[in-house]
Amino acid sequence: MKKIFFLFLTVLVSVQALHAQGSMRDKLRDKLRIFYVVNANLPSSAAGNVVQLNTTEIHGGICNGAMFSNANTVGFVLLVKGLLCDGANGGDANMQAWAGRIISIRNDIVNVYLVDDITNPITNWTVADANYGSCQQATSNWAWPCAFNYASNPSTDPSAPTVRGFAGQLCIGAYYCARYGVRGARTSALTSEKKATFLHELTHTQDNSSGREHLFWIGPTWYGYGADGTHYWTEIFPNYARAYQEALANMPAIGYDHGFRTMAYDIFKQQGHFLIELPPNPAGTGEIWFVNELRSKGVREVRTIPVGTSTYYEFRYQDLPPKYIVQNECVLGMILYQCRLHMDRDPFWAAINSGNGQLFRVSSWPVAIMFRELCRSGLTPGRSESTLLTSVAGGNEKHLFPLALADYFTNFRSTTKAQFGDIFENGSILQNYIDAYWINRETVRTAAGTTRDEASLTRIKRALNF
Ligand SMILES: [Zn+2]
Repeated sequence: MKKIFFLFLTVLVSVQALHAQGSMRDKLRDKLRIFYVVNANLPSSAAGNVVQLNTTEIHGGICNGAMFSNANTVGFVLLVKGLLCDGANGGDANMQAWAGRIISIRNDIVNVYLVDDITNPITNWTVADANYGSCQQATSNWAWPCAFNYASNPSTDPSAPTVRGFAGQLCIGAYYCARYGVRGARTSALTSEKKATFLHELTHTQDNSSGREHLFWIGPTWYGYGADGTHYWTEIFPNYARAYQEALANMPAIGYDHGFRTMAYDIFKQQGHFLIELPPNPAGTGEIWFVNELRSKGVREVRTIPVGTSTYYEFRYQDLPPKYIVQNECVLGMILYQCRLHMDRDPFWAAINSGNGQLFRVSSWPVAIMFRELCRSGLTPGRSESTLLTSVAGGNEKHLFPLALADYFTNFRSTTKAQFGDIFENGSILQNYIDAYWINRETVRTAAGTTRDEASLTRIKRALNF
């Protein structure tokens, strides 16, 4: 009897999983426009150079065309099968679940360019960028995965009115898929790390927030990523808006790939070091030179070290004020991911959609808006925001969990409510939640304890009665 019940339960669970997979896979078939680019040095008008893949056929397990018989693009084959096929034909249900949720943020078409930069290494980056959005990896002749959102780039996209119905585009190269690997040995396999990178870039196609690039130009040079034009996993961004964009994109990457998740959590767990790039000299005012302000307040680096073409300060995790810690894309990405993991799935994604909608073509406070939406998503049905301060003994305070995470991952270091509000850049946007959290703050801190493992998050949940 027991066994039958168990079997019944198994069948029920599988059917639900299959249904979820089917609907997301269908969405990917309908919303992804995938182009195989034979030679990125040639424009898209060159005969036969761009082949649009038939996502309906691939979805049905039929894989025909030059890309599928090209030994250099085997990574692309694994990628498109992973996204579109069922399990028997190479589909990756977990990636489909994440990718489907991501493209549901805008629910518009995404253009995906798969450029074969192994057979034809890229030498004409002007053509490759203008036609396929390819980004050069350092000074190499292969493309680093990158993406952008059409809506948030109206000034760089003269055809903006005609892209209505399209979210954005991303470009990924054969070289990255077949010959690259951040962790461990470089490998030809399409590892979960590479698929996580795809999910990261796919998220950028949905993100409406402004990168506030105008604050980071000095003459002809853009300092949004500092002087070296690049960013690192443990870097504190000078640009909070950019940190948000990268963190949002890291959230599904951390969720999908266990290796990314471990790397991100370890920064906190081991209280490692953060990098901050030396700002340009002479010093000026504004976000570019934020590190000077930090040092003038007595927060000192451990040392300066050369990284790539630039010099960086190295700061200890525990030395940095909370508002700077969340300017790291991993810490903020981990907070968002833990919200996704521990809060309810549909309200979480609804909150992401709602926050993203409020960031459309405005230069606003993305972190504050997103946290307010995440808090709202945790309100139990019937609970109104006007009753936030009236906590009932044993009442469900799930709506405070996003703020508890922000406090936890910044070592509970905020000493005043105002300082805690600074984490979100403009705390007044979610002041009612901050007020309510501050009442529960000591309960949360006591529950978290002193260990930095994921079990402390479970204890925090219990303290908030959910
Ligand atoms: Zn990114």
